[in-house]
Amino acid sequence: MTAVQSLNDLIHLRADGLPIVSLYAVVPVDPKDHNGLRSRVNSLLDQLDPLTDDRSLEREARLSIREDIVRLREAVLAEHWKPHGIGLFASSARNLFEAVELPSEPHDRVMVDATPWVRPIAAMVDKEHRPCLVTLDRGHAVLWEYQDGELRQVEEIKDRVLRDDDYTGGRWGGREWATHYTAGELAKRHFRHVSERLDRLFFPQHDQEVQYQTVVEGRSEHEIGADRRYDVLVVAEHGDAVAGFVDELPDQLRQKLAGTFTDPSVNDRGALKAQADEVLDRWEREREKQQIGHVLEIEAMGGWGVTGLHRCLWAASSKGIETLLLRETDEAPGVVCDVCGWLGESGDTCPVSGDPLRHAPDIVDQLVQSVLRDGGEVHNLEEGIAPDARTPAAHLRFPLPPEPGE
Ligand SMILES: [Zn+2]
Repeated sequence: MTAVQSLNDLIHLRADGLPIVSLYAVVPVDPKDHNGLRSRVNSLLDQLDPLTDDRSLEREARLSIREDIVRLREAVLAEHWKPHGIGLFASSARNLFEAVELPSEPHDRVMVDATPWVRPIAAMVDKEHRPCLVTLDRGHAVLWEYQDGELRQVEEIKDRVLRDDDYTGGRWGGREWATHYTAGELAKRHFRHVSERLDRLFFPQHDQEVQYQTVVEGRSEHEIGADRRYDVLVVAEHGDAVAGFVDELPDQLRQKLAGTFTDPSVNDRGALKAQADEVLDRWEREREKQQIGHVLEIEAMGGWGVTGLHRCLWAASSKGIETLLLRETDEAPGVVCDVCGWLGESGDTCPVSGDPLRHAPDIVDQLVQSVLRDGGEVHNLEEGIAPDARTPAAHLRFPLPPEPGE
């Protein structure tokens, strides 16, 4: 199961009064460091020891946590998890045990609640893109797939170039124009060729009659997962002769362009990756700035945007959130109504349905789950992007009704 599928399962597990232990740990790339993983998981689980004797919990809950601790200690001894991280969800009383392999490193953490704690997975899924990098000059292009932190060459496109662009026809200066024209035309043809290929890779539906079997360094497209098409384009150009390539891109493809850079280090994948990362990081931050900027703007105009935890909880209770923006540090205890879905900061009785409220150690996680269940999007902002005290923030589907008692 992918992280996306697991997330979808986890957010639909309803609270039933019994505790679920959620544990996240970094899995080191080097297997030699796995002893470190075991000791880190063990010390996380040590934090739960007081709960196993906590008389304020039901006996069934205490026993369940005790068994979960044993099972999680065993799991980390027995299994060989893949880098870069693992999320484990256990509740022996609920007969639940799920391991989710994570595409990037989480912070080591353990949490006990009536529902799984899913925010780290939601944050990773949000950041997971499938970039395609193109390095090119006037007659030669290489397409690279950038997945799981690795660049792999997808294919090479070679087109005819003139041997010498500066050939001027000697004293017959009249050929100068003709030669340059031809070199320019050949480059243009090459760019069109590359952009057509990219178009098929990004939008396979544009060309349904031809079945492309791209082989990525030995693995067929099917093995890679043909349903997971590229969604971000990075273009790297040799020299200054190819500025025209981006102009050749069809609009739909240009909308996927994260950015460009010059003089790609094609013979050093580590360096090439660093160059691509710089473009992608800048693009991501720019996108985040636009998203929060937009919410702040529409909130000021009234109606379609809200900021701050209190307003966002009411927006989610009203099923009104289209896009939720939050920071990792947004975390607070709160209360949930499991009958009508109302979320709040405190209280014993639901102001909407009158049902008893459940306490949640991190109400922001409940907010994230509520938005995802209602088909909204959740985006995590890097620190420093949003002004203080303005997150969580939400772009709404409709202006909110008044709050109960308002
Ligand atoms: Zn309620």
